[in-house]
Amino acid sequence: MIYFVGAGPGAPDLITLRADKLLRSADTIIYAGSLVNPALLDAAKPGCEIYDSAGMTLEQVLEIMLGAEQKGKLTVRLHTGDPSIYGAIREQMDELDKHGINYEVVPGVSSMNAAAAVLNAEYTLPGVSQSVIVTRIEGRTPVPEGEDITSLAAHGASMVVFLSTGLLESVTEELLEGGYSEDCPAAIVYKATWQDEKIIRTTVSKLSEDANNEGIKSTALILVGDFLEKENDYDRSKLYHPDFSHGFRRGSARGSKGDTDET
Ligand code: SAH
Repeated sequence: MIYFVGAGPGAPDLITLRADKLLRSADTIIYAGSLVNPALLDAAKPGCEIYDSAGMTLEQVLEIMLGAEQKGKLTVRLHTGDPSIYGAIREQMDELDKHGINYEVVPGVSSMNAAAAVLNAEYTLPGVSQSVIVTRIEGRTPVPEGEDITSLAAHGASMVVFLSTGLLESVTEELLEGGYSEDCPAAIVYKATWQDEKIIRTTVSKLSEDANNEGIKSTALILVGDFLEKENDYDRSKLYHPDFSHGFRRGSARGSKGDTDET
């Protein structure tokens, strides 16, 4: 059996209980060494075979998985953050399907969640933004038409930009072209929840300069949007408003209605 497991953003205690249990019982662990905190491997049992996939191809990863599977071993494929975001797991799952091998995905805390947490930020502030755009700039991996940052910026929503720290001048250019203002709040979060984490609050026009000054070239997220504004004029939530009724609480205003699944 093969488990694709989210390792969380960095801090070793930001892994799920399920993931921890699997790491402790794994016979084989293949971890994405460029971003997964190696401290997580301390949980491995004696004799567990551990491979760093940083220098491996998909074919080599699969070879290890298939070999372990033939021997009836439990394999953990450990990916940073949550595997569903830029995790390259689909191509692995498709190959396993071809071989009739069972697998399961265990979600993790994405770095986009960790970055918001370390900034004490909420992406979805009523009256400011109710949408989060998760994207990247085109690098070696092409971005489909209509998903370039300029097009997405037109929404003015909260934005999280992965895998783009090396191309910040282009990121800024596209953000401005799309409609964000030069002084729109932005943040660079380097290695969120790691010991050497760096948090830079800045603006769209200063992203590149600030990253250069701090020597940040990779392993960072770029957050953009008015949700980062300290003094902004958001609306308070309906869910916790005294005038508002819902399935779990009766408000003082008669007949008010709303979603019962807001959190
Ligand atoms: N699946 C991962 C993302 C993998 S793509 C997740 O859910 O977080 C790798 C990119 O994620 C990096 O280039 C960087 O943009 C971002 N990243 C991963 N870990 C990070 C961290 N601890 N702090 C800031 N950015 C991080």
